[in-house]
Amino acid sequence: MRPPGHHAGPHGIVTCPNDTEGSHGFCLLNNIAIGAAYARSMYRNDGIKKVAIIDFDVHHGNGTEEIVRQLVPNIQTSSLRTPYAVGSLHTSRYKPWLDEDDIHDIFFASTHGYGPRELCFSYHPQPQGGWFYPASGKSHISEAVRDSSADKQRSLSDFLSSQSWARMGDDACMNSCKIINVGLDLPHPYDVPGTQRVDLRDSYRKKILPYLVEFDPDMIFVSAGFDGHKKDTMNFGYVGMIEDDYEWVTEQLIKVANTCCQGRLVSVLEGGYKIQGGIVSPFARSVASHVRALSEGGSSRELYNSEDGVWESQFEKQMVDEKEKRRQQRIDKIRKTEMEKIRSRHTLNTTTIVSSMETHIKNDNIENGMPTKNDNIENGMPSHAGTGSTHPDFDAILKEPLRDTSVMTEGIDMSLHHLGGATPSPFHSGFSDQQINNQDEPIPSRKRRRNPVDYRELFEQMKKEGNCS
Ligand SMILES: [Zn+2]
Repeated sequence: MRPPGHHAGPHGIVTCPNDTEGSHGFCLLNNIAIGAAYARSMYRNDGIKKVAIIDFDVHHGNGTEEIVRQLVPNIQTSSLRTPYAVGSLHTSRYKPWLDEDDIHDIFFASTHGYGPRELCFSYHPQPQGGWFYPASGKSHISEAVRDSSADKQRSLSDFLSSQSWARMGDDACMNSCKIINVGLDLPHPYDVPGTQRVDLRDSYRKKILPYLVEFDPDMIFVSAGFDGHKKDTMNFGYVGMIEDDYEWVTEQLIKVANTCCQGRLVSVLEGGYKIQGGIVSPFARSVASHVRALSEGGSSRELYNSEDGVWESQFEKQMVDEKEKRRQQRIDKIRKTEMEKIRSRHTLNTTTIVSSMETHIKNDNIENGMPTKNDNIENGMPSHAGTGSTHPDFDAILKEPLRDTSVMTEGIDMSLHHLGGATPSPFHSGFSDQQINNQDEPIPSRKRRRNPVDYRELFEQMKKEGNCS
């Protein structure tokens, strides 16, 4: 569905302390909230009471959160400026979806990037490069989620009559609703490749899924944004998901849906802007992975098991560490080979110089007792011209710390994905096996091979159905 909707609040633009102006972020109507409210209202006699909205777009679903916050009466303050006076206007707001049970029966969770647009190494209250849009969504699990027993005792009718809401601040208002925000950091350049993806998955395993299962929804709505893909420039490096992560997160949500609500799950498109490449673009491939997980998960009826998550998290961390160890060993080996080459070139050059000097002496072609520049000698050292990759200082290379080469390797890694090979491994750290293996005797791949999406077949099918020009 276009345009997306999760930045549209109850009155359109949503602001926050870090962005007091706010913007629509391409959104007009909050499709997911409208859908969830509609289901809760229209199908209440068919067993749809509790609805959960899970948002994995790279941007915070601030519009959806604001709509959920309005389930509790609150006071909105806005500045007022007239030709005669400047002041503030306080208005009370309360926008229930159906009834007083709304705060108990609506759950919202979002994973997103939160922080500066560029990596800052010093503290700035307002980051110099600006905030990553929409600058809200700091990690927080509301009290209503954390303490469900207290939540059940709370009655909104008593709460309304007590008038305590009139004195409530913004935080207290949020704590009354079931809201989970997981604001993910921008990765540090020295982070081990793959860590960012484990963090994302762990945020679901540890901070969202257990509470979602405890909430026990009757229907799950997914704000499915694909702009967290590592090739989508819209995310400024936040989240860094690949197709497999979209598939994984969808599988997890399907398992919860199978466990709690007979697989009832609705997915609505939010962001996703890397469409260059058409049917093989990162966007299209991510959507394909998501849809595949929806259809396969729905037919498998697999259930959620929290113990799987614990094991999976440990396994993934081990995989990342193991891959990093192999990568560092590989780098060491490459360095050693390079050093050997440089040393042998140096020996060769010295031999050439000596023989060249001997020739010059023989030919009496020496000016002022020193060989000429044409003789490949400068200040008594062999010239670097023509030696290509030769480093001027061998010891400097050896002393150089082992740096993260993911930037170098990622291009190769992603281009392999882009060329339409198999779906990447469940835990691809960014250093491609092919690159490792190119330098070494072939190592059998340990990738978990899944049935890749046949894009050619999909394209033909779409052509037949008239969806593709
Ligand atoms: Zn987005």
